Amino acid sequence: MKILVAVKRVIDYNVKVRVKADQSDVDLANVKMALNPFCEIAVEEAVRLKEQGIAEEVVVVSIGPKAVQEQLRTALALGADRAIQVETEDMPDSLAVAKLLKGVVEKEQPNLVILGKQAIDSDNNQTGQMLGALTGMPQGTFASKVDMADGSVNVTREVDGGLQTVKLSLPAIVTTDLRLNEPRYASLPNIMKAKRKPLDVTSADELGVSISRTVKLLKVESPAERSAGVKVADVAELVDKLKNEAKVL
Ligand code: AMP
Repeated sequence: MKILVAVKRVIDYNVKVRVKADQSDVDLANVKMALNPFCEIAVEEAVRLKEQGIAEEVVVVSIGPKAVQEQLRTALALGADRAIQVETEDMPDSLAVAKLLKGVVEKEQPNLVILGKQAIDSDNNQTGQMLGALTGMPQGTFASKVDMADGSVNVTREVDGGLQTVKLSLPAIVTTDLRLNEPRYASLPNIMKAKRKPLDVTSADELGVSISRTVKLLKVESPAERSAGVKVADVAELVDKLKNEAKVL
């Protein structure tokens, strides 16, 4: 069984995001970038399936400029066997990513495609679903458990107020939720080994996919500053403040 994992380069989740002065985008100059946390979970799940002898090969793919190779190397250090970069000038929007991933799926013919449920930069939460629509493959989104069976996969999904388990025939698409697993750290020897693992670069043209931008980013704004809260000693003080300061009672 072959597993394809899509990974995205995003701003590290520890970084305080700054908006460019002209509000045209988020400022990425000298900012630490990382593998999207949900994609780390996706890689971990694929590597565990390989360690259990269920998968033979784990291929990671990232779409974007040359810099995404850094995150592909991280995924290789976490245990993926081989990497593919689909080179684009800038970071394409979700529909373009899904079209390019469809091209990679057609070429690689994986039995399972794992994506993060969302990228923490734009919180789109749509690429896996779009890939499902474009390929006609069944999808199990927001997975908190993945159980492989013969020719199918049972995916337990985190839905509002509970869990839902669906059975998908392979090939299928899974998107990962936070509780699916706890990703490992890459060890130094594995980081060194990852440098020698294969990383192929391809393009939209080579995949026979034509992409155009269908979403235009108009403006980015920081959240409004909020004033600090206060602690009250007791209910009487709270009621007094609500009445006399906030004037909402
Ligand atoms: P999104 O729909 O943008 O929130 O992203 C959901 C998931 O789609 C991510 O966690 C990745 O697995 C995948 N994805 C999004 N953008 C890319 C990209 N440029 N390259 C590879 N995978 C991507």
